Amino acid sequence: MKVLEKFDEALKNGYIKAYFQPLTRSVSGKVCGAEALARWEDPDEGIISPAEFIGILEENRLIHKLDLAILENVCKFYKKSKFKDLTFSVNLSRLDFKETDMFAEITEIMSEYDVPASAISLEITESTMLGDYEVTHKLFNKFHDAGYKIWLDDFGSGFSSLNILRNYEFDVLKIDMSLLRNFDTRSQKIIASIINMAKMLGTHTLSEGVETDEQRDFLRDNGCEILQGFYFSKPINEEEFTSYLEANTSETKDEHKYWSDVGKVNFLSGDPLSSTDISPSDNEKNDFGVAPLAFIEYDGKKITYPYVNKAYIEQVKKIGYSSVDAMEEIANSEDFEYYKRFMQQIEATINRGGIFRMDNIINDVVYTFTTKLVASGGNKHMIAATVHTISSEKSNYLILKHNKSLYATYDLVTEINPDKDSAIQIFSNSGFSKIYGTSSLRKGIVEFASNEIHPDDKERYLAFFDIDTLKSRISIYIQDSFRVKKYGGDGYIQKNIRISKLDNKKYLYTIQSV
Ligand code: C2E
Ligand code: MG
Ligand code: MG
Repeated sequence: MKVLEKFDEALKNGYIKAYFQPLTRSVSGKVCGAEALARWEDPDEGIISPAEFIGILEENRLIHKLDLAILENVCKFYKKSKFKDLTFSVNLSRLDFKETDMFAEITEIMSEYDVPASAISLEITESTMLGDYEVTHKLFNKFHDAGYKIWLDDFGSGFSSLNILRNYEFDVLKIDMSLLRNFDTRSQKIIASIINMAKMLGTHTLSEGVETDEQRDFLRDNGCEILQGFYFSKPINEEEFTSYLEANTSETKDEHKYWSDVGKVNFLSGDPLSSTDISPSDNEKNDFGVAPLAFIEYDGKKITYPYVNKAYIEQVKKIGYSSVDAMEEIANSEDFEYYKRFMQQIEATINRGGIFRMDNIINDVVYTFTTKLVASGGNKHMIAATVHTISSEKSNYLILKHNKSLYATYDLVTEINPDKDSAIQIFSNSGFSKIYGTSSLRKGIVEFASNEIHPDDKERYLAFFDIDTLKSRISIYIQDSFRVKKYGGDGYIQKNIRISKLDNKKYLYTIQSV
């Protein structure tokens, strides 16, 4: 192939084209965009792949012409296509920035075709950042300020310097397909760690080169948000891509924002809803330390579970539900014994924000149901949820589970041990924003007083709960009433708080409605 001889003519005649490879949202299965990949359709030689001409064009300082031509192709397609909510990524070579003022060139093409910057992501590789830090940084800011997204391509293929992630902010990290090619436990651990790291940095993740069911499932279950590869489609020309879009559901702009928010949830964290509150015991984690996680969507009418991981299913099996369908059915049925209670928590989570935690007893199993609002769009709300069935510490209190009136009577039951400065929450019925006192009882008391007790009652509460004098003050129990924050809304309600002696070391702390 005589690349250099034929290049100008090929450009002029439109032989060099953008092919499109769909990008698919892992959890929803909807198409959210496409990567534009260059293909040279030579009249004599047929379709020529980039491997045959990219290198030569780079060596001869012509690559920017190709990249701008591909962008122009994408813009033309965008302008005439009815799929205006999709985003397209184009590949840029590090040499582009050396040859010409890429920002000016790109802006010109975009305005010529009237394409919003939000529709275009720029894929760059590490090598782009080898030059002057200040210059590159300024350039990135310029693109970001103008509304373009910057994606780091082929992460994990070259040197993958972590300094690059420290120094630059990328919107998406594209995990190189070489990590998927030999899909063994070691690569899986590396991929999981990359996703975990990206989430901690607030960067979205995309995996390229997805070819099998196994890879798709693994990536989705570990929280990789976007998938690309032959499993979904190879790069296809404009007409084929249009048919593909007609045959597959694609994301709207609102859904794009919504799912990007959902994507921030770290599937791999011991506690995906917050990093500091609780951590599940080891036996609740699977090989990769994944905690039970489900996404629950509520549109004001119906509850659906768009995503439920294995660990979550394992937990709900213990209370008698073994499939997502069974959970959806029960969650939407007013005959469900705890329907009102469940919906109350869902609505409180949506209305009040923050983390909600409730203990429930279903089929004689005590479990904690924790929820957090992660995204809202239109009338839809996505809630991340985790469940933990009773831990061994709580099993001392299994007697409580036979007492269904517990729901009506107690807001909170916690066992405290002042000598050990520890607390074990047995039962919570009030959706307090967190479990208090797990690391230190003393700290928990102060936090509870600040977060949940009316400011005018705070001092009295702290005196009531003074650890240093507690033992000498209690022979059977002490009790007083305080204003405690209302569940799921603003304001306070008068509650009786009692500390009862269990033995010489342990006490039971209970909150009851007056
Ligand atoms: P890339 O940007 O990492 O693009 C992904 C490559 O992986 C594409 O190869 C694509 O066809 C291929 N691929 C996608 N899914 C799968 C899969 O499931 N399995 C396997 N084995 N391969 C898959 P392609 O189109 O041959 O492009 C190769 C490289 O050439 C690109 O890697 C990119 O670095 C470069 N390139 C392509 N188009 C352009 C362009 O317009 N400008 C510049 N500067 N570089 C381009
Ligand atoms: Mg690429
Ligand atoms: Mg790549």
